[in-house]
Amino acid sequence: MAYEVKCNDKVGRYVVAARDLEAGEEFLEETAAVVGPKHHTPPVCLGCLALVAGDTFCGRCGWLVCGPECADLPVHKDAECAIFASANVKFGPPPEDPTADCPQLECVTPLRLLLSVGSERWSNEVVKMESHSEKRRGGADWEADQVNIVNFLLERCKLTGKYTAEQIHQVCGILAVNAFEARSSVSGGNAVRALYPQLAILSHNCVPNTSHSISSDYKVRVRTTVPVKKGEELFSTYTHTLQPTYARRKHLKLSKYFECQCSRCADPEELGSNLSTIKCPKCEWGWVRAENPLIEASDYKCGKCEFKMSNADTMKAMEIIKNQLDYLDPESVEMREQLIKKYHSFLHPKHAHLTALKHALSQLYGRALDYTFDEMPDLLMERKIELCRHMLQIADIIEPGLSRLRGMILYELHAPLIMLARSLYQQNALTGLALLTRMQEAEKVLAQAVQILSLEDPESMEGQLAAQARFSLQQLQQTITMLPQQIDIVDGDEHIGG
Ligand SMILES: [Zn+2]
Ligand SMILES: [Zn+2]
Ligand SMILES: [Zn+2]
Ligand SMILES: [Zn+2]
Repeated sequence: MAYEVKCNDKVGRYVVAARDLEAGEEFLEETAAVVGPKHHTPPVCLGCLALVAGDTFCGRCGWLVCGPECADLPVHKDAECAIFASANVKFGPPPEDPTADCPQLECVTPLRLLLSVGSERWSNEVVKMESHSEKRRGGADWEADQVNIVNFLLERCKLTGKYTAEQIHQVCGILAVNAFEARSSVSGGNAVRALYPQLAILSHNCVPNTSHSISSDYKVRVRTTVPVKKGEELFSTYTHTLQPTYARRKHLKLSKYFECQCSRCADPEELGSNLSTIKCPKCEWGWVRAENPLIEASDYKCGKCEFKMSNADTMKAMEIIKNQLDYLDPESVEMREQLIKKYHSFLHPKHAHLTALKHALSQLYGRALDYTFDEMPDLLMERKIELCRHMLQIADIIEPGLSRLRGMILYELHAPLIMLARSLYQQNALTGLALLTRMQEAEKVLAQAVQILSLEDPESMEGQLAAQARFSLQQLQQTITMLPQQIDIVDGDEHIGG
């Protein structure tokens, strides 16, 4: 075994490396203990979990499926189907809007997990999982679960006597705290949830040193992203690493019921990534940061002058900007550039809100309407390069090593590097030697992207990109081999050969 499960009073169970692990080393492979619809989900087929319009039903139980083939899949037939059928609980009219949440489906995944009670996996692994019942009890989620899941299963599905209310809440808690989002195995891959008892033992950290990918058969593979020495703890992340501290901690508290105390959360500068830093409106070059980021209501203070901002005012300002980001046209380059201009005098250049805009732009340049590579002037190639380098600086801190985030950014970076170099050479703005150097730099970037993305499941979006990146790398390497024959390189003074 490459890892070892340990236990202490402070955090409960956690995982350490049982030997020195290299970056990119897979140390855990696990099948899902349960797969089912997300807690809040639009109508989905209970066989394949694909999104459905809501007008086709299982011939036995009358709940949503794509058709008879999906109705006969064991995941449905051998689980909730028999229970719904024997209790004669029919699926009510689906929501008129097929993208709206369907509360009736909230009971399905908990019921599937309940049906495993007594199995070997339940007793050895699932029952040991954290459910935070004490923290959840009486809260809004608990009350909603009581109505939509507990009462529904006990009364409507006639399961009283088989399960207790406490047991059903435990299962709801286990899923809420531990389930991972996966993609359904059908094309389009809508979000579903899956439970991995071993993976869930890994503690959370806002700077993870592992990465996991879930394949279409819902198997998860977990690997390191950086070298991990024997005895060092292995961490995954339960939140979005590109969010600022206050947003990550709020999400973790609300959905996972704990207050993150990791070194990134404890540092007002977020280890130098500055995703929560604001510009001081009073002095020049002062940065405003939370006085104590581990206190939710902490005020904000400039590190240079004595300027202070209350927590409420800061959160209000952040919310206003975030709302503008949330409603942006997903394709609009111009609106994002405008917002960056608008807020760059108020936020640190690396603040999460500006970084979110820059991250989107780093992908839109070269792809969006009117901004394909063929249409982009050198200036915009330079802009794309600048944006990718910005993202890379942040990723190097918050998701270092062979992380998916870095793999995707490096992939985005290689093409504008090549195209800009070619264009400048054609304009005689670059010597042949400089062209060769730049091509070799792009090769390094692309080779790293290939290394990282090749660790992903070949069927995933990243895995498919890996195949494309490998092909591009071969072509680039050929170009680089041929380059010295096409350009004469003589003491830095050269011209097209032949
Ligand atoms: Zn289906
Ligand atoms: Zn059925
Ligand atoms: Zn943290
Ligand atoms: Zn100041």
